[in-house]
Amino acid sequence: MLTRTLLLQMAQNRSLETFARKNSLAARLARRFIAGETLEEIVTPVRMLNQAGMTVTLNYLGESLTSAKDMERMVITYLDLMSLIRREQLKASISLKLTSLGLDMDPKLAQQNLEHLVEVALPDIFIRIDMEGSAYTQTTLDIFYTILKKRPEYRNHLGVVIQAYLYRSEADIEELIRLKARVRLCKGAYKEPPSIAFQKPDDIRANYLKLMQRLLLEGNYPALATHDLQLINAAKLFANEHNISKDRFEFQMLYGVRRPLQQQIAKEGYNIRIYTPFGDHWYPYTMRRLAERPANLWFALQSIVRK
Ligand SMILES: Cc1cc2nc3c(=O)[nH]c(=O)nc-3n(C[C@H](O)[C@H](O)[C@H](O)COP(=O)(O)OP(=O)(O)OC[C@H]3O[C@@H](n4cnc5c(N)ncnc54)[C@H](O)[C@@H]3O)c2cc1C
Repeated sequence: MLTRTLLLQMAQNRSLETFARKNSLAARLARRFIAGETLEEIVTPVRMLNQAGMTVTLNYLGESLTSAKDMERMVITYLDLMSLIRREQLKASISLKLTSLGLDMDPKLAQQNLEHLVEVALPDIFIRIDMEGSAYTQTTLDIFYTILKKRPEYRNHLGVVIQAYLYRSEADIEELIRLKARVRLCKGAYKEPPSIAFQKPDDIRANYLKLMQRLLLEGNYPALATHDLQLINAAKLFANEHNISKDRFEFQMLYGVRRPLQQQIAKEGYNIRIYTPFGDHWYPYTMRRLAERPANLWFALQSIVRK
């Protein structure tokens, strides 16, 4: 049986990636979680989500880049993506990782690349800095704070992500609320040690709930990123009880994950944004999604066979 651990190990295996990228079955399987490999391919799926009442945040796959050439390609792709969003009038923002903009090479370089992208994105395209493993938390927040300090008017154009599994997040949320910064709250996707992070699902959920309530009460249009029905229902109830209108926050979910729930939330009149990755580096991302719920592998295979 394919276990979560095995799938996560497979996600990091370069030879398997090379094999999978040449294999059409694997590529079709990835399509459940990836909108396309090229910019042209993403237009139709994004438009379909928009027509179903959902906005989108687009992420060009690729992380931990260490070559200047790959990084340049990344920046150029984001510039092309912004042109595409405008040309096709897509209701879409951008999510990116600082390691894909050169953070591992030089934090200053990543900051410069980010500032350049935000300048081009203004005034109509929002950019969210995804949060990576704990080795990057402080640097990522430092870069965000430095930019906000220089350009407070970017507050509504650039946002960050806070992970509920980290003990430090409660203090980070208070600082971000004070700065009126835009925050996406998620549980956290990386393996972190007990010295810095909650480990038990119930503890992570309890901290998410606490931080979510703070953001709903005091935050600047928080984004609640989760597929956890218990948390989604708690958010709706809390907002209702505190007269927080539906336009003051949004839910966020991943492309291809719990689609009926996504549609239901949109139909109920809540704002919902779908994190939509694209690009040819789809293998590790797809494997991580399958690892979250190995049963998806069989559902995806069945749907391919039925076609
Ligand atoms: C929009 C968005 C942006 C994110 N950005 C970041 C980020 O910047 N940094 C970061 O560390 N993490 C990020 N994450 C990932 C996040 O931290 C979690 O790892 C991930 O969302 C799983 O947690 P959950 O809250 O959905 O709850 P879980 O407890 O994992 O899941 C709740 C329910 O959803 C179902 N579910 C979960 N995943 C799947 C799946 N793949 N297929 C089918 N059902 C599934 C489960 O079966 C379960 O019933 C992001 C998540 C989202 C949705």
